[in-house]
Amino acid sequence: MISDLDTLRRAIEQNQIVPCFQPLTALRSGKITGFELLSRWLHPDWGLVLPENFIPLAEQNGLIWELTQQVMSKAFAAASLLASPLLLSVNISPLQLRDATLVNGIRDLAEAGDFPLDRLMIEITESAMVTDLSRALVVANELRAMGCKLALDDFGTGYSSLAQLQVLPFNELKIDRVFINAMMKTRESRKIVASIIGLGHSLGLVTVAEGVETEAQADMLIWLGCEQAQGWLYGKAVPIDEITGFVVAAPRPISPGMASPGEGW
Ligand code: C2E
Ligand code: MG
Ligand code: MG
Ligand code: MG
Repeated sequence: MISDLDTLRRAIEQNQIVPCFQPLTALRSGKITGFELLSRWLHPDWGLVLPENFIPLAEQNGLIWELTQQVMSKAFAAASLLASPLLLSVNISPLQLRDATLVNGIRDLAEAGDFPLDRLMIEITESAMVTDLSRALVVANELRAMGCKLALDDFGTGYSSLAQLQVLPFNELKIDRVFINAMMKTRESRKIVASIIGLGHSLGLVTVAEGVETEAQADMLIWLGCEQAQGWLYGKAVPIDEITGFVVAAPRPISPGMASPGEGW
């Protein structure tokens, strides 16, 4: 992690934090359904810096809203060029749930960038839930009332309870990539992924697999009934000008999935 706060402060001032976009794909049809905004720091000397190296620093030092504001306003303006009904997903930090200006702030930024709120998906990481469920509930309801959709990010790693899942108004459940990664290696992992998909469906949620890197994983996920996928198989996070190519590119041919994954899947 970068530890120099002044450097990060300067980076924000100098507009060095930029949005990149990773496609989300409908598993069966191969069609892109939207993009997730993933922040990148383009440092003049260090090159591309990934979020794990600067988001925690921004969170710990009260810079997260400034950073979010910068990257979201660029992302909304850019994403307003995406054809409807493509969605834009954005991550918010658990800490931001405590910020009373968050919801109006997001609305103002989306309006300024001419991006419709009903095509905006807000991703809240599962670990945010445990710390303050009542606050999460207030923010989640406000976001939904404003027209946004909600995704529970990194599911399976954050110890949320089923009781919490039951009360929060999510549209989408994103299965953490640790499970997708392990899925082709052990039968137990496949069973866990199957259970998460079943749980999501029981609650009326669209399920999204994170970190899909191989055709074999995609085929298994189709067989398990998962709707959407995100991962390097479909594309990494790229700057906006590389997206248009993505959207017009031929989708992956319709896949029937596998007839059966065989005994003891
Ligand atoms: P996330 O929300 O779970 O985003 C997905 C992460 O998985 C991204 O990492 C993405 O690049 C990575 N990924 C996607 N497909 C694959 C794959 O097939 N294989 C592998 N190994 N990785 C894949 P990234 O961009 O490094 O972001 C890490 C985390 O940082 C994100 O996890 C998100 O929680 C957070 N983050 C990113 N941008 C922002 C931001 O603007 N604001 C906030 N608050 N958090 C952000
Ligand atoms: Mg996410
Ligand atoms: Mg996230
Ligand atoms: Mg995630």
